[in-house]
Amino acid sequence: MTNVRFEALKVTFDRRPVEVTEPTAKRSDLYGLNVFGPSVFRNYMPKEAQVAVNDAIEQGKKIDRKVADQIASAMKAWAISKGATHYTHWFQPLTGTTAEKHDSFFEPAGDGTALEKFDGGQLVQQEPDASSFPSGGIRNTFEARGYTAWDPTSPAFVMGTTLCIPTIFVSYTGEALDNKVPLLRALQSVDHAATEVARFFDKNVNKVISTLGWEQEYFLVDKALAMTRPDLMMAGRVLLGHQAAKGQQLEDHYFGSIPERALAYMRELEIECLKLGIPVKTRHNEVAPNQFEVAPLFEEANLAVDHNSLLMDLMEKVASRHNFKVVLHEKPFAGINGSGKHNNWSLATDTGVNLLGPGKTPKSNLQFLTFFINTIKAVHDHADLLRAAIASANNDHRLGANEAPPAIISVFIGEYLTSVLDELENVSDGNLSPEEKTELKLNVVGKIPEILLDNTDRNRTSPFAFTGNKFEFRAVGSSANCAKAMTVLNLIMAEQLRKFKDQVDDLVDNKNMKRDDAIFNVLRELIKSSKKIRFEGDGYSDDWVKEAKKRGLNNFKTTPEALKVLKAKDTLALYERHGVLNSVELEARYEIELEEYIKKVQIEGRILGDIARNHVIPTAVKYQNKLIENVKGLKEIFGNEYAKLAEEQIKLIKEISEHMGSIISNVDKMTAERRKANTIDHADKRADAYCNNVKPYFDEIRYSCDKLEIMVDDEMWPLTKYRELLFTR
Ligand code: ADP
Ligand code: MG
Repeated sequence: MTNVRFEALKVTFDRRPVEVTEPTAKRSDLYGLNVFGPSVFRNYMPKEAQVAVNDAIEQGKKIDRKVADQIASAMKAWAISKGATHYTHWFQPLTGTTAEKHDSFFEPAGDGTALEKFDGGQLVQQEPDASSFPSGGIRNTFEARGYTAWDPTSPAFVMGTTLCIPTIFVSYTGEALDNKVPLLRALQSVDHAATEVARFFDKNVNKVISTLGWEQEYFLVDKALAMTRPDLMMAGRVLLGHQAAKGQQLEDHYFGSIPERALAYMRELEIECLKLGIPVKTRHNEVAPNQFEVAPLFEEANLAVDHNSLLMDLMEKVASRHNFKVVLHEKPFAGINGSGKHNNWSLATDTGVNLLGPGKTPKSNLQFLTFFINTIKAVHDHADLLRAAIASANNDHRLGANEAPPAIISVFIGEYLTSVLDELENVSDGNLSPEEKTELKLNVVGKIPEILLDNTDRNRTSPFAFTGNKFEFRAVGSSANCAKAMTVLNLIMAEQLRKFKDQVDDLVDNKNMKRDDAIFNVLRELIKSSKKIRFEGDGYSDDWVKEAKKRGLNNFKTTPEALKVLKAKDTLALYERHGVLNSVELEARYEIELEEYIKKVQIEGRILGDIARNHVIPTAVKYQNKLIENVKGLKEIFGNEYAKLAEEQIKLIKEISEHMGSIISNVDKMTAERRKANTIDHADKRADAYCNNVKPYFDEIRYSCDKLEIMVDDEMWPLTKYRELLFTR
């Protein structure tokens, strides 16, 4: 019998870094090479079409059919020049990955010849076979069809031999079926609300965009080794495995140089990213062994979301060429740091001002403080929605796991800004005296340094931290689609800014207050009423859990708990007020999230049961038999003396039996609970059952399996071990 683990290790030890041929062009020349962007428009499109696309991007204007034909024809010509033979509507269904259905440009002309065809109709709309994407019942209730529609704000690109057209995905009756539709709606709402508030300070502002710079963490595992782990291959994480003697204690990986094989992978990934217009900039090791990060420059949020989804696709494609499996799971290895996807977020005006960056003058700083304080208030009022936006079966293993942000949402702002808010909290009621204003201008608002970056203490334990000129939402999971977090963040910001504007206007119109004084007055109240969300201490500590409880902050540790807020009346009202989701869409999403959770836990339960019974138990039996042989042999040779000589072996034989017994009985109990859960009608109750009755067995089963791993002869153990998965480079 061969041991699959040893076979895989042999393959792995022989691996060399894959050669990456550095393109002859400079990196900067590669940028956007395969993107149908403005620089290409000029060569391929008539002026009229260029203007139409521009207006669609800038002002959301509709593109008429004739112009769409022109654009399609330009896109086709350009794509064919890049070697494309097919086109696809590329979209982001609620499954968390991307979807595409390829169609050929090729079309028989009917007279024995053929031509390459692609017109405005094909560009604008496509009907993928939608029945296989989750819809939370929307399509069943209404119409069994969904279609994709071109999103001109995100440029088309050629990947391999396919022209990919970013699209939204909606049901035949117009309900959102993807991650992108609500995002676009939320971005529009925050644009309106933020523009109005920004105009308090500068009348030239006509548009505010949301910016996003994500940081993608991931693990690389050698493919041959990964293949020996059914759990890693199918669930994306290992469900058992004893800790290696060495983990990440020494932090030598973070500061060490990037291993050669990983570096080759990163180089190729960067080249591919640049060609597709993803402005990747940094790459480095992360805290855990074989954990890395890639991050681009920030971009407009919709584009950044598309680019992150595209990156996740690319990562897998490039990884397989380098004989790696890229692991995007939030917590692939219990006991080792998990992976997140920090979402750096801000708002920027069309006049080029970052609204969360301090400026040079008291006025620009008052603008900064306005957006800064409103963000804190938005998070305070809607912390549960933010928590729900990052909830997933995967992320449950990471949040609150001692090295990841806790499941408690709080905001970190640093010592300096805390003192500024403390001062502002004391401004007088009503119109401010001239002295008070001078004091504020000179010594508080006016003094905020333009570069706060160096002043912001780096609190790595906060789920939502201000980092000098942006907020960093750190609790987002590494495998998540950022659209979810970005939709909620921009939605709650839109809501808060609307309220803020109304309150300021009210004071000015009805209380005879000067605009600046009104702003100070409202900000003062916002600071007071959002205080409990601010936390500057160690977010990983047990003290914080207690303190947060005292403050009345929620600590939803599991997805089913975290998602319940989606059922609240207020939630629906908020989504409806901003036209982001209607009741059918919101309900559908709640259902889809629950179903996804249930399926994940169900699949993990099956895999774990299978590995425990079919891999671990048989191996343990084999080893136990070896021990029994040994004891028998000792008895044969030494007669009655054997008992003393075989004492340890006999103990081990018994221990192995105990663990096997425990595994078998726990797998049986888990299976029974699963069966029971499956009979529950309502998804929310079923999710609760999976969470509270099925999942707890995972730890029990794992415990005994991991004990067996360190008892059984290494040569017999079929599952690649932690040290091999994490330290093979
Ligand atoms: P780190 O957090 O790793 O120390 P930086 O502070 O330089 O690194 O930035 C992290 C990320 O924040 C980068 O991806 C960057 O593009 C992004 N970022 C910087 N400014 C903004 C902004 N105004 N809006 C959104 N993201 C931003
Ligand atoms: Mg960061």
